[in-house]
Amino acid sequence: MILRVPDYYDEFSCIAGECTGSCCDGWEIDIDDATREYYSQVPDEIGERLRDKLYKGEDGEYRFRLGEHGRCPFLNDDNLCDIIIALGEEALSEVCTDFPRFALSYGHVMQRILSVSCEEVGRIILSRTEPVKFVERSMPDCMEDWEDEEADDAYIAFLETIQNRAIAILQDRSKPISERIALFLGLCEKAQEGINQYGMDEDAAILTDTLAELEPPNVSTNFRVEDWERGKDAQKLYEAFDIRWAILEELEELGEEWVATKKRVRKVLTEENYAERREAFMASDAYDAIVYEQLLVYFAFRYLMQAVYSCDLLAYGKMIVSFALMVRDLDLMCWTENGGIYELKQRTRMAYIFSREVEHSEENFEQIREELMFE
Ligand code: SF4
Repeated sequence: MILRVPDYYDEFSCIAGECTGSCCDGWEIDIDDATREYYSQVPDEIGERLRDKLYKGEDGEYRFRLGEHGRCPFLNDDNLCDIIIALGEEALSEVCTDFPRFALSYGHVMQRILSVSCEEVGRIILSRTEPVKFVERSMPDCMEDWEDEEADDAYIAFLETIQNRAIAILQDRSKPISERIALFLGLCEKAQEGINQYGMDEDAAILTDTLAELEPPNVSTNFRVEDWERGKDAQKLYEAFDIRWAILEELEELGEEWVATKKRVRKVLTEENYAERREAFMASDAYDAIVYEQLLVYFAFRYLMQAVYSCDLLAYGKMIVSFALMVRDLDLMCWTENGGIYELKQRTRMAYIFSREVEHSEENFEQIREELMFE
């Protein structure tokens, strides 16, 4: 089995007590069966605390009972984990050990990504200037359980080619980011047409023909360009922004900081000033197209291959662009509020709250994907 990861994957190391947005704060903490079994036998005071804080939810899953403001009951006043202190990292549940690493498996491949819902990951991704590369490693035989024999090889090979081309388009620094976005969406749109046809006939030749038609010069740049950030029409730019935020406003609200941030966006960015403020931000020293390239590539690597299971490649493509533009709206809001100053710390915080609210809520994520499917 192959493990595919971004080249910054091994740079990550948890900053624990230094972290201002700990993953042990504000989230449910699921306890898997093996860990629960282990906790049932841990002796001494820590064992009693573990058993005392464990409860079974209505869905049958075991979790820790959270403390005040949703803090993990084992996160101490120094923002350090009492379980690690008493029993070592190997005593953590699967979800705590894995975070902020997320995996998608298909065929003989596992793709793993680090999530920007961890501020330290956000710092690594958003401060990076070089284009990200993806590296492959072989995984031990014991990981064969993760292999998905059901997935169709021809379809997987097609999607992997699309993923590679999509990332190459997003990283083509000879073009402005708006043109890369249009090309990326054009690629997804044409690939979706091939997928739809393939779905009807189940003929692998359709996928090969689609790829041949999708050689770079043939990719359309005309995909609803005004809606997706090309062009100068102030009213259309505002309408696209308004649609993005109307979608976000319909989602379930999970964090207090997110609720307050949404209100700030609507207060600071209005129909009268949106296009002007956007233009000033994008002309300022605080704006760096490389940041949005990194975000787009992060979202693309995280979501495009999910079309293995749902076949909605174009909906994922639109979602990837929407997510990057939503984060850019947050950047624009903060930059405006700060009188034209915007630093990496604030930037990673915005990506962090967005990711926690949208990427890590299955309901919210699905709702956005469905909305964009019919856009
Ligand atoms: S959010 Fe990231 S850096 Fe912070 S405690 Fe969790 S894993 Fe560590």
